[in-house]
Amino acid sequence: MSVSLHLCQPGGGASCGACCGLYNFRDHSRASLSRALARQTAVVRGVPRNAEAYRAVAAQLKEERAPALFPLVRVCPLLGFLDADHTRVGCLAHPLVTGGVDLRDCGVYTAETCERFTCPSFGWLTDAQARLVRAACPDWYLYGLVITDVELVRGCLKLVEMERAAPVDPDALCARPEALEAVRALFSLKETAPGRDADMTVFGRFGPADAEGEPSLRTLDYAALGTHAAPEDDVVLCLGYAPESAQVLEEARALVRRHVQRIARALDTLPSNFPSPPGRGTG
Ligand code: SF4
Ligand code: SF4
Repeated sequence: MSVSLHLCQPGGGASCGACCGLYNFRDHSRASLSRALARQTAVVRGVPRNAEAYRAVAAQLKEERAPALFPLVRVCPLLGFLDADHTRVGCLAHPLVTGGVDLRDCGVYTAETCERFTCPSFGWLTDAQARLVRAACPDWYLYGLVITDVELVRGCLKLVEMERAAPVDPDALCARPEALEAVRALFSLKETAPGRDADMTVFGRFGPADAEGEPSLRTLDYAALGTHAAPEDDVVLCLGYAPESAQVLEEARALVRRHVQRIARALDTLPSNFPSPPGRGTG
């Protein structure tokens, strides 16, 4: 494991529930997921904290919800908001939330599985990359989308390095407010990128489900599109684009390039409060 940061609940406004199935719906917009989490929170918080009540409420909530985008990826009805302001997502059956009793066996996995599971981001992201995601995505919806998308994080940093022809230290991006804001804008394309299918059958690099119900890994068919690979393409796929023409693909690449250039400019421009060197600007 290369990350020492607690990726699930790292503080700083960020939190994640992706492996509990949070995003596993065709409509995984912020508004739709907020409604679902608020409903689950209200219902689960309203029942006695014992296994019988939690199992019953989990079954009831399962009946109500929309079908999963990827049938084999489980969606747990015991995920909800941990705070009154609905800023933090997490497990409503965790002993720290229930006040002592562990009710995670009432969800879609065993409590032991929930306790032990770590997603691939724990192994593939560095601490510095994780710190950058936490700083750039200080809300549950965007943080969960980005922290679980290792290829997006790595791909964005690689593009910035190519643009600058120099290595990029993620901590240096965190330390420069203009650069961090530009990183936030690039990562936010996971939520806001224009021109994608509103009724998504894809999820980032994944989709549609294969015959077994598992997510399939998407690639671009350059021959069918009549074009060639470009450095931005990994990020374009991670953003959920499924371009059906070379023009649409080029527009998505250009969008990514503009954001990458903004980050590079912010890193390479001296901050406004940077002291003038002796003999310059001193009259
Ligand atoms: S997807 Fe990864 S970071 Fe998110 S809650 Fe699960 S283990 Fe934690
Ligand atoms: S019971 Fe397990 S799967 Fe369900 S919300 Fe809690 S941690 Fe996630």
